[in-house]
Amino acid sequence: GKRAFIAGVADDNGYGWAIAKALAAAGAEILVGTWVPALNIFESSLRRGKFDESRVLPDGSLMEITKVYPLDAVFDNPQDVPEDIKANKRYAGSSNWTVQEVAETVKNDFGSIDILVHSLANGPEVTKPLLETSRKGYLAALSASSYSYISLLKHFLPIINPGGSSVSLTYIASERIIPGYGGGMSSAKAALESDTRVLAFEAGRKHRVRINTISAGPLRSRAAKAIGF
Ligand code: NAD
Repeated sequence: GKRAFIAGVADDNGYGWAIAKALAAAGAEILVGTWVPALNIFESSLRRGKFDESRVLPDGSLMEITKVYPLDAVFDNPQDVPEDIKANKRYAGSSNWTVQEVAETVKNDFGSIDILVHSLANGPEVTKPLLETSRKGYLAALSASSYSYISLLKHFLPIINPGGSSVSLTYIASERIIPGYGGGMSSAKAALESDTRVLAFEAGRKHRVRINTISAGPLRSRAAKAIGF
């Protein structure tokens, strides 16, 4: 069977969860990366059976998540983590959650994967029009929503089996005006789409791994509700 790592699952409402289910239904083993601040609630909800109804697969069995890894995809390695985050209670309670460390831990646990899914984004100023977006907010959107994919792919590629594949999720606001999708999130998706082409070229040649992005339709996930979509 194939093994998949899905980055960006913290509840049962988003694309990451739905992709995990589809992959599980197709027989894949499921590993997920969950944003550190959301980890406790996700794990305790899983344990308490809160997601059991949404874990049901077409054959009636329940999706098993083999392991949940804490992850913050805006930090590549421990040297990148600023003091205030290190000291933050929610972060201090977990370890090995930078991208490099997660890839290392997955390697130690399982050796390799076949499928890498990026289903995460964050734009702290998403509710502001681009004209009112600060430099800091813009760069944060690109860091969490675009560079996070480059970083994940860079660190996971060595453990993706040849013939494997990776996919991220983009949004049509990269090419058409979608009022309300601000804070540099439209820019972040445009970068993600362009990067997908370049990364497909690079990773295809070097590692025989396919790279794609899917422009998903609107879904009332937690992230979408937060911006009133
Ligand atoms: P979601 O809230 O289920 O998923 C986003 C996840 O990203 C959350 O679990 C959040 O905890 C995580 N996250 C945020 N910052 C992170 C970080 N620094 N490190 C690790 N994880 C982090 O919402 P979703 O809408 O399913 O989003 C998944 C993907 O789908 C995103 O790329 C989003 O832009 C894309 N998308 C969504 C829609 C939509 O309408 N919902 C449409 C097109 C594309």
